[in-house]
Amino acid sequence: MAMEKKHVVIVGAGVSGLAACKQLLDRGFRPVIFEADTVLGGVWAHVPDCTSLQTPRPLYQYSDFPWPETVTEVFPDHRQVKTYLDAYARHFGVLDCIRFGHRVIGMEYDGVGEETMAAWEEWAGNGKAFGTGAGEWRLNVADAQGRVEIHKADFVILCIGRFSGVPNIPTFPEGKGPEAFDGLVIHSMDYAKMGTKKGQEMMKGKRVTVIGSLKSALDVAAECAEVNGTDHPCTMVVRTKHWIIPDYVAWGVHISKLYLNRFAELLIHKPGEGFLLWILATVLTPLCCIHVYFTISDIDIFFVICAQRWLFSKFAESYYSIPMKKYDMVPDHSLFEALATCLIAITPKDHYKRLEEGSIVLKKSKTFSFCKDGVLVEGESSPIKSDIVIFGTGFKGDDKIKNVFTSEYFRSIAIGSTSSTVPLYRQCINPKIPQLAVIGYSESIANLYTSELRAKWLAHFLYGGFKLPNVAAMQKDIFEWEKCMKRYSGRYFRRSSIGLLHIWYNDQLCRDMGCNPRRKKGFFAELFDIYGPGDYIDLHPKKQ
Ligand SMILES: Cc1cc2nc3c(=O)[nH]c(=O)nc-3n(C[C@H](O)[C@H](O)[C@H](O)COP(=O)(O)OP(=O)(O)OC[C@H]3O[C@@H](n4cnc5c(N)ncnc54)[C@H](O)[C@@H]3O)c2cc1C
Repeated sequence: MAMEKKHVVIVGAGVSGLAACKQLLDRGFRPVIFEADTVLGGVWAHVPDCTSLQTPRPLYQYSDFPWPETVTEVFPDHRQVKTYLDAYARHFGVLDCIRFGHRVIGMEYDGVGEETMAAWEEWAGNGKAFGTGAGEWRLNVADAQGRVEIHKADFVILCIGRFSGVPNIPTFPEGKGPEAFDGLVIHSMDYAKMGTKKGQEMMKGKRVTVIGSLKSALDVAAECAEVNGTDHPCTMVVRTKHWIIPDYVAWGVHISKLYLNRFAELLIHKPGEGFLLWILATVLTPLCCIHVYFTISDIDIFFVICAQRWLFSKFAESYYSIPMKKYDMVPDHSLFEALATCLIAITPKDHYKRLEEGSIVLKKSKTFSFCKDGVLVEGESSPIKSDIVIFGTGFKGDDKIKNVFTSEYFRSIAIGSTSSTVPLYRQCINPKIPQLAVIGYSESIANLYTSELRAKWLAHFLYGGFKLPNVAAMQKDIFEWEKCMKRYSGRYFRRSSIGLLHIWYNDQLCRDMGCNPRRKKGFFAELFDIYGPGDYIDLHPKKQ
């Protein structure tokens, strides 16, 4: 196949789009990336000044592009992440493929009717990346001046991100929403775009209320507290208490050893597991493993302490909850559930100092509404008087996927229903949408590394390395994953987190690529060592 003749379009030049482009270039394709922004990096291009990585650096790196030696921080700041991504794009020639300031405003599949498509038993008609050749995508792409061009593509990869673009704003009964408020209401996304200097100027001397308690909310509150101190404390309205932890070490034990190795995955049920693994997970479910290595005189001594899961929870939670207790901020759900859903935030620097001195004030309330003077919360008769309210309430990542399609047909099938996960086989391919893939929707504890491996898998598929199973088999597999997500992520199952099953997931990709999924040397290393990008450096996919 002449790869350079196939027109592949990538939408978005964040961490995922860059990885997809690099992997395709390696396979001889000449993709084009349409990027709405004027810079690359996606979320890392526009975050508050104090935002740092929350994943430890070694897990947030492309397998073939280590961080420079000058970066030694465990959690590099956003400027360092952006510089790293710039360097990656330059080094591998990805930069030359990007058309900045080009937003895809709609796309339509042309050449095959909806009824025919809906009846296909094989994905895209034959299970192959470019289908039967009858259909192609037409993309409407708007430039910065609003001029719209039409581009054709044999394959489209959506890397439009999940935590940017479409803000998630809660809904309110009539007269109780932002319209009732006399002050300014913005989303953390608008604050981040403004840049810290302007943002802090805006907040200086003002009564600011931040809604939310995860990463964006915490960072905005930190910047507000920095500029206003205790004169005008920043109020945070916390609806759900989350695990906000300083790092991943509890009582001296790196907690990733509890969930980022194969042994940890043996303890939980996996999609498509066989009888033996099912038995193991059932028997071991109440167990968790804390294992510690010591090296004495070059001899590795290895301890395994098996404990009831509640003991693990108590062990790590007892450590992390020490500062949280004081402010009644210990979550109702376990740390295990938080890890399963990737709903964890690393505490911004001086967070507890600010709570102590009173430059940040917490208000816990399940519901809230607006009035003329500010925000009304449960149990208080007078409002939190505010000049500015900032929503740190996250994003509607699935709406972004849906809205990129023009036809009602694709819109209706792109993101599933509220009771299902977003239907993506291998967290990448919608069984009913031909010649298209999504990278960066499903979440993991280290999204860059997950996106890279997924991009490698996809590039191999586009190269003709393997054929997809039929539509029914893909749907069955998606359902198996959905069952696990519902089991371990509870009400957050639509986050499609593979956090606790990332090795199982990687194994599936490896097998599809004809590679050995066991990447470690030796039985114990395979079972107990943490898996990360370094394990996939020398992955050489083979044609099936
Ligand atoms: C504050 C914050 C901190 C985070 N920290 C971590 C962390 O520590 N570890 C971790 O693993 N993850 C973290 N994440 C998650 C983060 O989103 C991912 O790690 C990763 O950066 C996502 O990359 P992406 O390329 O998939 O999406 P994005 O970074 O969102 O990039 C999407 C790109 O697509 C472009 N785009 C969107 N729509 C269109 C369109 N229609 N046309 C053209 N271009 C378009 C956007 O402009 C953007 O550049 C964090 C997220 C946030 C918001």
